[in-house]
Amino acid sequence: MTGAHLPRVLIGDGVLSELQGILADYRSVIIVTDPVVRSLYGSTIESIIDATTQWVLVPEGVDVNQTLPSGADIILGLGGGRSIDAAKLMARNSGLDWISVPTAASHDGIASDVASVQHNGYRYSARCKGPIVVVADLKMIASAPKKLRLAGMGDILSKASSLAEWQLAHEHHGEPFDQHVYDLVLSALDSVLNDSSLETLVRAEVHAGIAMQMFGSSRPCSGTEHAISHAMDRRGVELHGIQVAFATPLCTYFLSESGYHLYGPQPVREAMRAHGLPTTLEDLSLSESTFLDDIHHALALMKRRGRYSILEHLPVTDSQVQKALAMLGYLD
Ligand SMILES: [Zn+2]
Repeated sequence: MTGAHLPRVLIGDGVLSELQGILADYRSVIIVTDPVVRSLYGSTIESIIDATTQWVLVPEGVDVNQTLPSGADIILGLGGGRSIDAAKLMARNSGLDWISVPTAASHDGIASDVASVQHNGYRYSARCKGPIVVVADLKMIASAPKKLRLAGMGDILSKASSLAEWQLAHEHHGEPFDQHVYDLVLSALDSVLNDSSLETLVRAEVHAGIAMQMFGSSRPCSGTEHAISHAMDRRGVELHGIQVAFATPLCTYFLSESGYHLYGPQPVREAMRAHGLPTTLEDLSLSESTFLDDIHHALALMKRRGRYSILEHLPVTDSQVQKALAMLGYLD
């Protein structure tokens, strides 16, 4: 476990106004956001903050080498995944601290130190630093498109697979493990299975992000189900959280078969259906052979990262995957 500085976390209706006090000691703030979010919240934010504001609008795809306006002493990431990731990278490159102000609950990166970066056509995870403060205004987040919240739920449900696989990888492959971090992510997963409120989801995402930061890697929150999603990213099928959830029942099925039963495929699938997450290949307009190809690609990704996959552990053949897909309702 690394000596990460954990952020101060504010979650609630109207907590955006707390930014005034939080930023009282700063002279100049860089606000990283996208044009839509700026038009929605720009004037509100400027009326709250006393410091000078400089806006950086993030275009499609985060550029690792984004240059920073001079004279600023703090960075504020305002928005969904892209703006938050850009703020993380700018904080890393400049050495400045950053504050996370999510406007949607679409993934667990809002409090993490890992950014998903696109560079020269490739997407990869870059280790940055965690935010010093997370300001999650539920009023603002509640007004984001519903699909983003659905994706966030999917990203947390995927921990049923990532956690069980992490334990397997520790016991069979010697990967580092931390029980306290495991328990933190497990309680995040349990919480969204027991309570579907937005506040619980946002809290779960923040805790998952903090857990990754404490552990020093994304491993607790990212296993083969995430690798399958990265393989799907080659074609840009769906939002991250929707893709990782989609692969989760399949992974938890094989994990359960191997004695790593945290939540089996059925409770995960039921939760997915209850929330309206896609569960069949048809829902995602995927052919079985394309999905099989994604799974092969995912296994290669896991190997390249030195991460032990449940699919390698058994090992799982194509015909076993096909049988499982039929049994788990992917072909319905
Ligand atoms: Zn994720």
